[in-house]
Amino acid sequence: MSSVRETQIAIIGAGIVGISSAYYLCKKYKCNSVLLIDERDPMSYTTAQSGDNYRNWWPSDVMAQFTNLSIDLMREMATESSNFLQMKQRGYALATRQKDISHVIESLNDNYRDSENLVRQHNSAHAQGYHSPYSQDWSSAIDGVDILSNKSLIKTVFPAFSSSIEHVFHIRRAGDFSSQQMGQIMLQQIKPQGCEKLRGRVKNIAHGQDYNIEVQTKDGLVAVKAAKVINAAGPYVADIAKMLGVALPVKNIFHQKLAFEDSHSAVPRNQPFSIDIDETPLDWSNEERATLAEEPELSWLTRPIDGGIHCRPEGAGKWIKLGWAYNRTASQPNPNRELTDDPMFNPNYPEIVLRGAAKLNPKLAQYVESMPANRVHYGGYYTMTQENWPIIGPLDQSGAFVVGALSGFGCMAACAAGSLCADWVCGGQRPDFAKYLSLARYDDPALANIMNRSNDLGLL
Ligand SMILES: Cc1cc2nc3c(=O)[nH]c(=O)nc-3n(C[C@H](O)[C@H](O)[C@H](O)COP(=O)(O)OP(=O)(O)OC[C@H]3O[C@@H](n4cnc5c(N)ncnc54)[C@H](O)[C@@H]3O)c2cc1C
Repeated sequence: MSSVRETQIAIIGAGIVGISSAYYLCKKYKCNSVLLIDERDPMSYTTAQSGDNYRNWWPSDVMAQFTNLSIDLMREMATESSNFLQMKQRGYALATRQKDISHVIESLNDNYRDSENLVRQHNSAHAQGYHSPYSQDWSSAIDGVDILSNKSLIKTVFPAFSSSIEHVFHIRRAGDFSSQQMGQIMLQQIKPQGCEKLRGRVKNIAHGQDYNIEVQTKDGLVAVKAAKVINAAGPYVADIAKMLGVALPVKNIFHQKLAFEDSHSAVPRNQPFSIDIDETPLDWSNEERATLAEEPELSWLTRPIDGGIHCRPEGAGKWIKLGWAYNRTASQPNPNRELTDDPMFNPNYPEIVLRGAAKLNPKLAQYVESMPANRVHYGGYYTMTQENWPIIGPLDQSGAFVVGALSGFGCMAACAAGSLCADWVCGGQRPDFAKYLSLARYDDPALANIMNRSNDLGLL
């Protein structure tokens, strides 16, 4: 026997993005009848896998504006909560062995063109005016990018980097935070304002005068009647859209990470999130290379792999996190399995990412021969569009909305995504770039040029 619940706005998905949408509906628009529906504990699916890094550096201006808005909103929350969300801002250090960096400088000038003096070059060993990355205080941190082009300076600031590094681009409005803490702040604040939770799996959605959402709970079926519905279902966003009669242009790609105790102190604790941006050939012995080349499933490891291997010290102890988003093959998660049990896990990933990361931090190579004893290999799905922009806005003309496809940036972008979603739902004023993030962008041929301008998707 089914029971019935009524609400003004039903949000499907209580990951960080659904929670943030509820937060801005309640905070900005004083909505007092919001129901968050999820079959799991809040923030326990993709959100729980996040490395919780943030940045305003992107190959596209639209994404830079979007994440800058999100960082502004996170800073607001950090101020209001005495930094309960543990925001830190050491920056991102992008390292390259390339001598000619004119193309990178061009794209940075594009990215940071709105304000003066945001791209600063340092060519001498004693760069005056260069703020070191050792303070992690977000409130006094600077914006823009410092380009370190002197090998002695690089050695002083980033002593663990390979001596082959010619330039480091130090992106300053970037760092890390706790998305779980941020979500907790939001949940605490919206509860007294009328936001409730329902635990169960959405099985079907019918649309008459209202939306009738069929939810399977442990106590039986619940029929939720809602005037408006928001699809914030993470990797299942296309499945929920299908129930609403809309096909979404998204795919799911499994990406893995490795966290481990750096017992050899290979990475300095004050090193910022560091990324090797060069295409990387892995080091193998001749024998290993020959064996790999003969295996059809492994031969790709003998060829250079796209750049983007990253490394960051985590917390106060000795742990570090490594990642490399090299997978390009889409797959679909099974809703009945946990992420820890996903068939897309590659048992060779820890060795691959360690070999890759050792090209920038050579001391990590010692772990290839003797894998760290304390390690966690984990992963989750990046739900993405072709151009790696999210989809936020109306799903159709009748009160259904989507906030999804947040790829590998959904935690840093959650505040802006939730705020824009609330603007759409309540008909509030939206920033200009909001239209580029809605589904309407696919109907505008002029936008196709902007979206396809570069092969660089800003994927990490
Ligand atoms: C390994 C990894 C590292 C990452 N690192 C970073 C990072 O450093 N910085 C960053 O900003 N982002 C990062 N991300 C990306 C970020 O984690 C995601 O973009 C973000 O968590 C997406 O949040 P979400 O709320 O959209 O999805 P989710 O957290 O997946 O939430 C969706 C929710 O919808 C629920 N749901 C789905 N279908 C149904 C249904 N039918 N009925 C009921 N409930 C349903 C699910 O149970 C789930 O709880 C990373 C992602 C991964 C995988």
